[in-house]
This record gives sequence, structure tokens and C-alpha cells, in this order.
Amino acid sequence: MKVLKFGGTSVGSAQRMQDVAKLITGDRNIVVLSAMSGTTNSLVEIFDYLYKKNPDGANEIINKLAQKYYGHIEDLYATADYKQKAKEHVNSIFDYIRTFTKDLFTLFEERIVLAQGELLSTGMMNLYLQECGVNSVLLPALDYMRTDKNAEPDPVYIKEKLNALLTAHAEADLYITQGYICRNAYGEVDNLQRGGSDYTASLIGAAISSDEIQIWTDIDGIHNNDPRIVEKTAPVRQLHFEEAAELAYFGAKILHPTCILPAKLNNIPVRLLNTMEPEAPGTLISNETEKGKIKAVAAKDNITAIKIKSGRMLLATGFLRKVFEIFENYQTPIDMVTTSEVGVSVTIDNKRRLDEIVDDLKKYGTVTVDDDMTIVCVVGDLEWDNVGFEASIVSAMKEVPVRMISYGGSNYNVSLLVKASNKKKALQALSSHLFNN
Ligand code: ASP
Ligand code: MG
Repeated sequence: MKVLKFGGTSVGSAQRMQDVAKLITGDRNIVVLSAMSGTTNSLVEIFDYLYKKNPDGANEIINKLAQKYYGHIEDLYATADYKQKAKEHVNSIFDYIRTFTKDLFTLFEERIVLAQGELLSTGMMNLYLQECGVNSVLLPALDYMRTDKNAEPDPVYIKEKLNALLTAHAEADLYITQGYICRNAYGEVDNLQRGGSDYTASLIGAAISSDEIQIWTDIDGIHNNDPRIVEKTAPVRQLHFEEAAELAYFGAKILHPTCILPAKLNNIPVRLLNTMEPEAPGTLISNETEKGKIKAVAAKDNITAIKIKSGRMLLATGFLRKVFEIFENYQTPIDMVTTSEVGVSVTIDNKRRLDEIVDDLKKYGTVTVDDDMTIVCVVGDLEWDNVGFEASIVSAMKEVPVRMISYGGSNYNVSLLVKASNKKKALQALSSHLFNN
């Protein structure tokens, strides 16, 4: 059995849903769907109005969104019978959303509203498949996908409940389920964070020990550089789990970073495929490395670098602990770290508590902040006993000022911190140097 996940744009219109239906029928697989593109953002807008106690504003968006869905229904189904069934499904969801415009609105209701996008898309797809004569069964994610008290997925629960559902519907040709949504440890409706449908797919893959997890989007796999910035890029055909995790974290938008871990732990290959070009090979992510090969470059924006310099660090113990503790106190994760004997530089991508952090750091040394920075990350099989990759990377950057360089935290990544204004130059230089583009 395989798990196939389709993102919002892949199910973004009636035509796209019909294309997806052709791709998923034939094998007894589990299909995970996102909300139709734009829907989750509209749901966010709706609850923004509700938090601001403006039910009229919310109702306007709800009505507009409902109209869009009526349009999709007209285009998607061939028969009056199924148009009617779909309308009932869509109406029941919009009526439910409307009930939240009449009462107190809290985080609890917010999560329920956010969950409706995936319930809409999966219900519609399931009805469409049935209209096409496919015996598809809807697996309600809220019945098996669950997080624990630390808001981490609960793999034991998921495995047990999901497998019980599959056994109860053993006769089905195909299973459709919602990405992103779940229940939390208290049984409330919750979610796996924005973009979390990829995570759903890999959690399901792990729970059923699937042969493969396929993530379908509208690009042909991960590219070796950012196609929006560098002119010539090429798809990367094979990545190690660790390489993919670095790329997903450092900017390759195609895959959510959380998705890699469950697949890696259970050694289930992940394949990135393109709905617009289903025959293309895409990118295969597995446990294999290609010896000594540099695979790709990615960039992460909106980075702030903070340097703490202090004579007190020289030969001292506990200095780094005190510095890191400050970031922990303000719940601000650190991305990159570089040190010398008398100073340490770190980067963060969340500036919310920056002023407080800087204030506290001043107790320990002189603090410098560099804003508007970008982490450029080079990914590949970069084992320390492979020779030459450091030299190629550094020589590619010979005309770009580099604020920090970090290697040795993993065997798969070298990170460079540059000014955001030099990002393009850095990505292009690395591309032409490393991939001869
Ligand atoms: N619909 C959710 C979002 O837009 C989850 C997803 O698409 O993965 O974030
Ligand atoms: Mg997505």
C-alpha cells in the first residue's frame, strides 16, 4: 500500500480534482488531501474577523467562499444527483462555520474553523470518485490522527486506530483522508500546523508501513537551486533523508520539514512528483547517499545574526550555557552557531523577543545585531573525510561578503550567512560553481 498526498494547488479546481482522480484510481492506496488552494487562508481571514468581534466581516468571507464551492460543484460533477449530494456536504460545513459567528470565539473554535478546508476537499473528492464508480472510503482523520500532551503526534494511537479503520473497510478500492487536521491529547479538534498535510502523509506511511510515500505538487521534485532566483536549475533525482530534511528546513518550499522524520525512522522512501507531469521521475528521498556529491543549494530569509563578544569567555566554562539559556527563556530557537575563543555568533529567524534577548545578553559581553540576513545552505554528502567540497564552496563565494560559515553540525550541510541583498549573487555563484550552470 502507498500513501499519496496532494497539496492545495493539486486539488485547487474541479479540473485539477478530476486529474487527481485519474492518478489515484487503480491501486488500493491511501490518498491524503489538503484543502483547495486559498481555502485555509480564507478560513484564517474568517476567524480574524471573529476575534475582532466583526461577524459581518466574517459572514462576507464565508458567503464568498461558499459561492466559490458552488462553482466547483457545478464543474466537478456530471449528474444532478451528485451535485445535490455535494451541495448538502458543502452546505453542512458552511452552516457549521456560520454558527461560530454568533458566539464567543476562542482558540478552540479557531481550530475547528481551520479544520473545515480539508473536510470540504476530501468530502468532494470522495463523492466525485463514487460518481465515477470507484468504491472509495473516507477515513476521518479526526478518528485516528492524534497528538499527545506535548503536541507531538502519538504514533501508537495513530497506528492502532488507523489500522482498525482499514480493517473495518477492507472492501474499499481506495481510501481518502484529510491532511493537516487531528485531535489533541484532550480530544479537541487541532492541526499539525500550516502546511502539515505532508506530515499527515508521512505519519500514515509510518503507521501502515507503506511501500512509499508520494508527495504530489506542481513542480518536478526538489531543484538544485531556487528557480525563482537562479536562471538555470535542475531537478535533483535522489536525496538522502538528511539532505532532504536540510533542504526542506532551509527553504525548499516543496516539502514540509516535519514530514521527513517519520519516513526516515521507518525507512519508507518519499517520492516527490508533479501532477502536471505525472510521468516525470521527480525526486526520490531514501536512505541512500551518492558518495561525495553536492546536491543542492537553498536559502532561508529573514535571519538575524547576534554576536556576543567577551573576554570573559576566554578559557571560561558555562559561558555558552548562559548565552543559550537566554534564548531559551524567550522561547527563540537558534539556527546557526559559530564560535571563537572570545565570542559567539548565533542566528534566529524570529525577532519577536529580540530586544529582551539583547538586553539580557549585554550582561555577558558586547552585543552586535545584523538584521536582514539570509542563510545559504549547501547540501550533499559532505562527510568530513571527503576532500574538496569546502574549497569549492568557499571559492564560489570569493566575491560575496560572508558573515558566518558553519560546518560540522551535520555531514550533509554547510551553511553560510550573507546579507539578504547578496542572496541572489551567492545563489548564482554557487550554482555556476557547483553545478556548472
Ligand atoms: N491546508 C493547510 C494549509 O494550507 C495544510 C496543508 O495544505 O498542508 O496550511
Ligand atoms: Mg502545502
